[in-house]
Amino acid sequence: MLSIDRNLENSGHQYLSQVDDLENPPSPNQSLLPLTAKVNKNDTLEIGGCDVELLVKRFGSPLYILDEFTLRTACRQYREGFANHYSGESQVIYASKAWSCLAVCRIIDSEGLGFDVVSGGELYTTLQAGVSSDKIYFHGNNKSAAELELAVESGCTVIIDNWLELKTLAAISSAKSPKPVPILLRLTPGIECHTHEYIKTGHLDSKFGFDPNQIEEVFSFVSGQPALNCIGLHAHIGSQIFEQQPHQDLADVLAQWLKKANEYGLPVNILNIGGGLGIRYTETDDPPSITNWVKAVSEATESACHKHQIPLPKLIAEPGRSLIGSSCVTAYTVGGNKEVPDIRNYIAIDGGMSDNPRPITYQSLYRSVIANKMSAPMSRNVTVAGKHCESGDVVIKDANLPETEPGDILVVMATGAYNYSMASNYNRIGRPAAVVVNQGEANLIIERETYQNLLERDRLPERLIDFRV
Ligand SMILES: *Cc1c(COP(=O)(O)O)cnc(C)c1O
Repeated sequence: MLSIDRNLENSGHQYLSQVDDLENPPSPNQSLLPLTAKVNKNDTLEIGGCDVELLVKRFGSPLYILDEFTLRTACRQYREGFANHYSGESQVIYASKAWSCLAVCRIIDSEGLGFDVVSGGELYTTLQAGVSSDKIYFHGNNKSAAELELAVESGCTVIIDNWLELKTLAAISSAKSPKPVPILLRLTPGIECHTHEYIKTGHLDSKFGFDPNQIEEVFSFVSGQPALNCIGLHAHIGSQIFEQQPHQDLADVLAQWLKKANEYGLPVNILNIGGGLGIRYTETDDPPSITNWVKAVSEATESACHKHQIPLPKLIAEPGRSLIGSSCVTAYTVGGNKEVPDIRNYIAIDGGMSDNPRPITYQSLYRSVIANKMSAPMSRNVTVAGKHCESGDVVIKDANLPETEPGDILVVMATGAYNYSMASNYNRIGRPAAVVVNQGEANLIIERETYQNLLERDRLPERLIDFRV
């Protein structure tokens, strides 16, 4: 680790992970900027060996910039963490709702991870990226019959959320599948964790999963279904979690239920503990490292299995945010500003809630730097406003930034998870392009949406064309 020069302490340099040894990288989820971030001789931010200002010149703005090295590092730390700390079989599957597109799926598949998909569209994307269906797990609390049919045709594993789905899938499987469809059952464990209300899913009052008081009935039903092969149990307790205790408690709850399922004769051998590990969005966020989280979960699972006297199941974790969140930044171009005397200074950027709906949806906090002024002292407190017609479209309410001027490149950090995947065309603004950067090379992975793209699915009925009242 290098230490920051005193003069640079209050500049964009403070967000660099200060690694000189990428052979032994720190945990991506504890870093604000991607691990390869550097400041070059023009005092400009460089990611994956690419100058961010030049990337914006070449690909336009706003721009999602995905650092391949950081993403691969997170994949490896998860995979190796389980290999080192769990004595049974393990699998890491990427919760692709965090960011689903062909290139992201390819990179993660090439690291040997599996995939969790939550819609027909994500399943289709993953399959089109060349992922083998035996590595895909299909989630969701209201999968349609068409989605279940696609799941059965593709051969992926279905994570069953409720009775309707259980019965529909049993019928589809008997009618269409030559062999029983592999399923996991999703249970609501009744575990609370300290995160935003909307992203808590494990407490009892949740729309996801079977309620604990129905479990035995479900086990009994499933054991009488020859068209379904129940191979494991699943629970997911929430997202952006910094505590380790909830997942440790969850391992115990799931181990008990595995034992119960065994008593019903179900061939369950998978314990899927869900995702949820948090990442650093601001300097006060302090999540455990990927390795420490994996170690804690592995040890808790082993000791729970020991306690309940069941053999070690295959342990699955399905991280989304902590795999990809810290590997991407969004670069915007600074526009005008507005000073409200004694209250606030606004600076406007050329994106906002349509490319990153998290601040307006979850009051999420972000940090930013001016990519072309990395060493300038961050002497101003400003509000970074988006360009959408909503007063609430504020990307960062209290941003410390240097003096800025129109044309500067403002980079918002840790935007890899739930940004592109939640992006919309609100105000008919096209979604940004995305590039992947690695060792000085930048490749387009998602094209910028054009005005023409915005009209592609509009249809104008003939009778409206020349009609005038
Ligand atoms: C969203 C989700 C995940 C991933 O959550 P992260 O907080 O992004 O790690 C995993 N499993 C299920 C079922 C989910 O819904």
